[in-house]
Amino acid sequence: MTARTVRNLVDGEWVESVTGRTQERRNPADTREVVSTFPESDAKDADAAVSAVAAGWQEWADTGPEQRARVLEQAAGVLERQRDQLIDELVREEGKTRAEATMEVSRTPMNLRFYAGEALRTAGVTLPTGDGSLVFTLRAPVGVVAAITPWNFPLNIPSRKLGPALAAGNGVVFKPSEVTPLLGQRLVDALIEGGLPNGAIAVLHGGAEVASALVTDERVDAVTFTGSTNVGEAIHRASRASQRTQLEMGGKNPVVVLEDADLDRAATLIAKGAFGLSGQACTGTSRVIVHDSVHDALVERIAAKARALRVGPGLAAGVDLGPQATERQRDTVLGYVARALDGGAQLVAGGPDDDSQDLTAGELAHGLYVRPTVFTGVDPASELATQEVFGPVLAVLRVHSFDEALQVADATRFGLSAGIVTSDIARAMTFARRVNSGLVKVNQPTTGQAMNAPFGGLKDSSTQTSKEQAGDSMMAFYTVDKTVYLSA
Ligand code: NAD
Repeated sequence: MTARTVRNLVDGEWVESVTGRTQERRNPADTREVVSTFPESDAKDADAAVSAVAAGWQEWADTGPEQRARVLEQAAGVLERQRDQLIDELVREEGKTRAEATMEVSRTPMNLRFYAGEALRTAGVTLPTGDGSLVFTLRAPVGVVAAITPWNFPLNIPSRKLGPALAAGNGVVFKPSEVTPLLGQRLVDALIEGGLPNGAIAVLHGGAEVASALVTDERVDAVTFTGSTNVGEAIHRASRASQRTQLEMGGKNPVVVLEDADLDRAATLIAKGAFGLSGQACTGTSRVIVHDSVHDALVERIAAKARALRVGPGLAAGVDLGPQATERQRDTVLGYVARALDGGAQLVAGGPDDDSQDLTAGELAHGLYVRPTVFTGVDPASELATQEVFGPVLAVLRVHSFDEALQVADATRFGLSAGIVTSDIARAMTFARRVNSGLVKVNQPTTGQAMNAPFGGLKDSSTQTSKEQAGDSMMAFYTVDKTVYLSA
């Protein structure tokens, strides 16, 4: 594949950054291949992009909701027509398998259509008065929205931000992840082909420098961010009181397995949640909290599944796990594995001495691979049990009661997705009520969401400002209410 040149979009023009500096994005399955080159933007680029959207968004806001819905619908159609190309580019740029990329490429247009519907539904209220005057709420766009997104779902996550922001009539300055600039550009290309006017959108490529300049720009009315908790907290500190922020952040998602669980079912859904997407899902399973009486039988099943998975390039047949997205990510994950070993955790699958698949030979030699890895005997206070690894590494923790399982499940700063495997519906309901988690999964993997179900975390996984995919509650983040008093 020839490398694509990605540019910033400022005032309707595709431009280089002011600095002229560029970066390369390489295929994580074969780092010899350059997938895209993109501008390394800085504060001057942010200033120009915000100026353009600040001057242009009102024209978009003044269009009718039917027109905004039509643009989102048409953009969805463009993405659907480009499906095969997008799947190919998503695999090459981010590293998913073809099956995983197909799911994301299918889901993204559905998100845009969902929010096209919200453009038509968003409404205020009318209130009774005693004097014959009219009091009502007028819903208007917030204004300029900065959308800052991660690399692990480079189409799906931005579509859940740009979709509602544009449906409400806002202008958006979009900063895709520097790991997936091409996919960010593809989403914007589709919106423009769908009829989005120049003043409603700008795109800036690059990393922390340009993103933080957006957050501190006083003309930016709202910041919607998905990414790590550390960066989210930095945004929170940098933002001003009147600036809306929606921060969706990291997870350390547990699955509790009780003594009455179907262990084959438990192992299957744990392996899917832990190793699917190469462990690079915010809702990925990273802890198993299992009752002592079924610990060994469960571990044996999970380890067998982990060993049977094939890692490799996402476009190759028979591959279950693609690479880690970046060298930094691969090294971070391997660092956790090394320190867990030093700390005395027991490795039951994966790790440096696993010879089930040679990751240094043939087509694997140039990819950023990590084997599915399972540890038992993990200290509940250790970093492996409490910090987000964001790779295919599972920590198994042994408990002796349901109450202890609940307590261990809650013993991290995160609260994104929590699962339980049991045939006891009463304990499943108690778990759902007590666990501090935005998503609760009973006999299901921690990963995977219905496209029309509210999504977001609790605790340090989210500001809990608004749930994505939650219809009017999401639109509330992207709109302001004015209370109007009207007499004839
Ligand atoms: P990241 O936090 O490193 O980067 C996310 C975005 O923030 C990128 O666009 C990046 O350029 C930008 N950024 C970096 N420094 C910044 C700064 N100082 N100010 C403003 N923006 C800055 O995250 P990542 O590595 O791209 O993605 C992985 C993380 O995202 C994981 O922690 C994962 O759990 C989380 N995630 C959360 C959800 C969710 O819905 N809760 C979904 C997907 C991913």
